[in-house]
Amino acid sequence: MIPEDHPRYRSLMARERIADGVRSGMVVIEGASAHGRGEAFDYLLGEKSSASAKRAEKTAAAFLLAGFRTVISVNGNTAALAAAEIRDLAEASGAAVEINLFHRTDVRMETITAHLKANGVTVLEGTAERLLPLSHDRALCLRDGIYAADVVLVPLEDGDRCEALVAMGKTVITIDLNPLSRTAQTATLTIVDELTRALPNITRACREQNPETGEQLIADHDNHRLLYAALQTMQETLTDAMD
Ligand code: ATP
Repeated sequence: MIPEDHPRYRSLMARERIADGVRSGMVVIEGASAHGRGEAFDYLLGEKSSASAKRAEKTAAAFLLAGFRTVISVNGNTAALAAAEIRDLAEASGAAVEINLFHRTDVRMETITAHLKANGVTVLEGTAERLLPLSHDRALCLRDGIYAADVVLVPLEDGDRCEALVAMGKTVITIDLNPLSRTAQTATLTIVDELTRALPNITRACREQNPETGEQLIADHDNHRLLYAALQTMQETLTDAMD
């Protein structure tokens, strides 16, 4: 039992959810390693949402609300860490939820679907087809889900699929603590923030944002500027630590 007043409470709880996810078969062991990479970058952000991340989250809400067919793509880590936050965002934005896994097995798909449903998420189901130009199993998706979407939110994505989705002409929003990853560099919009902080911020913006503000955020969007700001925040943390 981790006491709530522990200075690293949130981080330790997230680790526990990932470990539970590994034990239940939702998270692959490689996913635990990817989580660790995220944690390291979060340290450099001071484990809080920066001003540029908050702007990115509002812009993500604008893209989701303006989309015709919007889908949130969920993998094992995302399901283990943030099932309730995914439910709230899907409700607030009107986006559908589809499971997409790199290490795909029927059992994992079923375990993750059951976990999401138990948390109140409506999950798109059907026969996945190999519709994305990728050689691995992330190519599998639903024809009326990710394949048909004009806007896709892909938290904790790998670079190949992000690139493929962008090449298909989709607006791709990612949440990735590493501003240097191929995903972060390729997406239409990169939110450099921790998943469980980012999702509620996007949900809140979906609930509060008026259409004029959304249009302006989309018109002014510049992903290079967001990535630069994230790197600057990390650089400031390092500089302060060296003083
Ligand atoms: P790429 O293929 O895009 O270069 P990668 O090989 O690092 O990236 P993955 O191993 O799939 O891709 O890792 C997913 C990414 O998710 C990592 O960059 C990591 O920093 C980030 N990440 C992990 N956990 C979280 C989290 N809780 N919140 C936000 N980002 C996270």
